[in-house]
Amino acid sequence: MFTKILIANRGEIACRVAATARRMGVKTVAVYSEADARAKHVAVCDEAVCIGPASAKESYLRADKIIAVALATGAQAIHPGYGFLSENAQFAQACVDAGLVFIGPPASAIQAMGSKSAAKSLMEKAEVPLVPGYHGDDQDADLLHQQADKIAYPVLLKASAGGGGKGMRIVENSADFKAALASCKREAISSFGDDKVLVEKYLTRPRHIEIQVFADSFGECVYLFERDCSVQRRHQKVLEEAPAPGMPEERRKAMGEAAVAAAKAVGYVGAGTVEFIANQDGSFYFMEMNTRLQVEHPVTEMITGLDLVEWQLRVASGEALPLKQDQLKLSGHAIEARIYAENPNKGFLPSIGTLRHLRTPLAREFEIGSATQQSGDTIVRIDSGVREGDAISPFYDPMIAKLIVWAPDRRQALAAMTNALAQYQIVGLASNITFLQRLIASKPFATADLDTGLIERHHDTLFPSAQPVDIAVLALATAALLAAERTASDASDRHSNPWTDTSGWRLNSNLQRQLTFVDDGKSTPIAVMYQSGGWLLEHAQHFSRMALLQQNGNDYTISLEDREVRGTVVRDAADGSLFQIFTGGHQTTLGYVDPLAHAGESEAEGGRLTAPMPGKIVAVLVAQGDKVKKGAPLLIMEAMKMEHTIAAPADGLVEELLYTVGDQVAEAAQLLAFTLDAS
Ligand code: ADP
Repeated sequence: MFTKILIANRGEIACRVAATARRMGVKTVAVYSEADARAKHVAVCDEAVCIGPASAKESYLRADKIIAVALATGAQAIHPGYGFLSENAQFAQACVDAGLVFIGPPASAIQAMGSKSAAKSLMEKAEVPLVPGYHGDDQDADLLHQQADKIAYPVLLKASAGGGGKGMRIVENSADFKAALASCKREAISSFGDDKVLVEKYLTRPRHIEIQVFADSFGECVYLFERDCSVQRRHQKVLEEAPAPGMPEERRKAMGEAAVAAAKAVGYVGAGTVEFIANQDGSFYFMEMNTRLQVEHPVTEMITGLDLVEWQLRVASGEALPLKQDQLKLSGHAIEARIYAENPNKGFLPSIGTLRHLRTPLAREFEIGSATQQSGDTIVRIDSGVREGDAISPFYDPMIAKLIVWAPDRRQALAAMTNALAQYQIVGLASNITFLQRLIASKPFATADLDTGLIERHHDTLFPSAQPVDIAVLALATAALLAAERTASDASDRHSNPWTDTSGWRLNSNLQRQLTFVDDGKSTPIAVMYQSGGWLLEHAQHFSRMALLQQNGNDYTISLEDREVRGTVVRDAADGSLFQIFTGGHQTTLGYVDPLAHAGESEAEGGRLTAPMPGKIVAVLVAQGDKVKKGAPLLIMEAMKMEHTIAAPADGLVEELLYTVGDQVAEAAQLLAFTLDAS
């Protein structure tokens, strides 16, 4: 076994590889870009070397630098992860030429499978079933058109050098062919520098089923069963599971054996995946082979109880496969959900930002790349490359984590996934958690009525129109707001805040304070009336009694009428104007409008806090000479039948109070003299 390896990747896969290496006593060297100096993968490896600027071209794709680092640090082998250099035949060969072991297949196998067209020709010879189509070298436009006509529409155009769904075009009829071909070629050239295309019969309602294979350098090759990756958006996987629902034993064997034949045809060594597209009747065709460890390999690990990275290291260091085909057993059901920083409502647009708050379903925080937790019959595993406080940058893939569950059967695995997603909390950027929750709960997924068009076909269920915000959510946000005001005023002085002090102080009982939240662009007012021991809330002509029972950091327990509501409320955005509320397993984002606080803010430079409209002072929360923190409530005004809090625009000193309770103030009147903290 190696004593030290270099991991030529970043994010979750670098962390995941490091976790196995550590368990096996193999030292790890991380490489990182300038943007990743504080990244988790750097922290979890034994050594780390910066290899260049943020852009992948200048760092993670610099084969020469990576090999130089491996040699300089004494690493004997390089694990490429997935993406980046993992399927680059020149890199695999360069490693070998430098006297290093490439933890992956030989360059020749990568090369053979690198072109979808060439791979198909090879597979044809190995008698692996192919989708009817044309994958020849002659790329004459008229010939391609004729071939498409012959295959019969709809057909699918693919970039031969393609990956990640790029270049793919569905052509519905002969008249559309020319335009689709031109657009496929344009994308193929810009993405892969190669405009060779192939034409395939476009299957309607197909399933994506892939087989994990493993080969050693002694000519042995086994299959580790299948994964169903049919749930995709824009031809990219969102949910993966193993085994494939409804897979009969004999078809599993047939697909497994076809995959092994595919691997053997190219002299494969190491972990690989043979992707098939399958009709609903079970007939299946070779699509391509991915010559690396896949993103979704954990579901295979969960149903086989094996560690595929361990197998990779063993095979690469010259050992034989640890198990023979008849020793491999499939047990239970595993599902993986890819948690992305993206906005499903905006066409899955990636979202960048800092993970300001991150809570996962795993009870204990984990620093290593891959962590599991077993409770009863179910296992929850998270493979993640980021921690709270880390950023999702525009430079790399916006994946936050992979959430994997295992249970004795699919029904229980679904329940475990539902549970786990409900506990995931992400604040600071948009995530697909809510979308994943809907997907998992959707009828087609729950009943395993799977095909690659599931998301598009069930668009209306998966993207429902916005529902009015629940009173429990508004109450939690209100409680958090009031509690924050109390904390701020406690910090600034000992004067009690009539709005949050529940010790029995009672303001004019007719007076109410109006808070305005914004839900999905809609102004959502809630009136708050102080009551002994709590508040009375009015929202949508409904009254509810609320009291804050407990607060622990961001976690709140309130009583709302007769029920107890628990939730987490995180103030997002620098000015606290966004509330992220997690309750009942769901996240709601609310804006909070505090017009006077904002008006005061812009005036604060001159040390003046002025009234933006005529009104009456109803509470003075500070005294002359008080030192206050930014955001601390200073005065409450009533104007236009609404209450407004005037908050400190910054840390500072209350020099002079110019009004007292009951005073009328004119628009633009200076309310108090305030000096900003110079320190
Ligand atoms: P890429 O390498 O770009 O990811 P693949 O060949 O692996 O492309 O195909 C990606 C996805 O596109 C598949 O999982 C499937 O959803 C869809 N697809 C590919 N070929 C076909 C086909 N012939 N008919 C219908 N859908 C297809």
